[in-house]
Amino acid sequence: MLTGATVRKWIEKTAAVMAENRTYLTELDKAIGDADHGNNMDRGFKAVVEKLPEGDDIGALLKAVSMALISKVGGAAGPLYGTMFLQGSKPLMGKSEISFEELAQFFEDAVAGVKMRGKAEAGEKTMLDALVPAAEAFRKAGDLDAGLKAAVEAAEQGMKDTIPMIAKKGRASYLGERSRDHQDPGATSSYMIVKALEDAVS
Ligand code: ADP
Ligand code: MG
Ligand code: MG
Repeated sequence: MLTGATVRKWIEKTAAVMAENRTYLTELDKAIGDADHGNNMDRGFKAVVEKLPEGDDIGALLKAVSMALISKVGGAAGPLYGTMFLQGSKPLMGKSEISFEELAQFFEDAVAGVKMRGKAEAGEKTMLDALVPAAEAFRKAGDLDAGLKAAVEAAEQGMKDTIPMIAKKGRASYLGERSRDHQDPGATSSYMIVKALEDAVS
């Protein structure tokens, strides 16, 4: 079972990781984008932590993440992560504990939200290249601890797998062939979000 307190810890850890990696994420975005991804994520998650409601309603916590990201982060990542957390939060409204099955569904709903909003699929050098394998690995592992470990490994591999890809979506796609040989910033922040959840649980 995952509790509301753990979800809060996850969100706070994510904010800390985005602050620590602000420069790194922005450097990645400098190579194939407009050098703002770290700033976007740090600014967004700072606002998230400020706006987090009291209590242990997991759906309400995740919805608050979505609202803060959508209102504070311009560019691609704000609305994409905002939609991800919004879609994932819906079945979890009013729940102060969630099961392995509900978390597996959360990941799948989150991925579906990003795909819908970004009109994208895995393989296009985006955050989906970390998120899709993470959601699949989590479900396949069958329980929470093994699932999170597998999801982190899959997200990390997916993040690295973006290096040889040619971007098909977002600003990096304007570079065509020249987007090759760079790690996607959004796939990197997605890996960090999944890793922060494992850290919050353990
Ligand atoms: P912007 O590109 O508007 O400056 P960010 O730099 O914050 O926004 O985020 C860039 C990241 O957003 C990319 O690295 C990529 O992972 C992700 N991204 C961009 N477009 C899409 C899309 N259509 N679908 C999914 N992810 C996307
Ligand atoms: Mg950018
Ligand atoms: Mg930008």
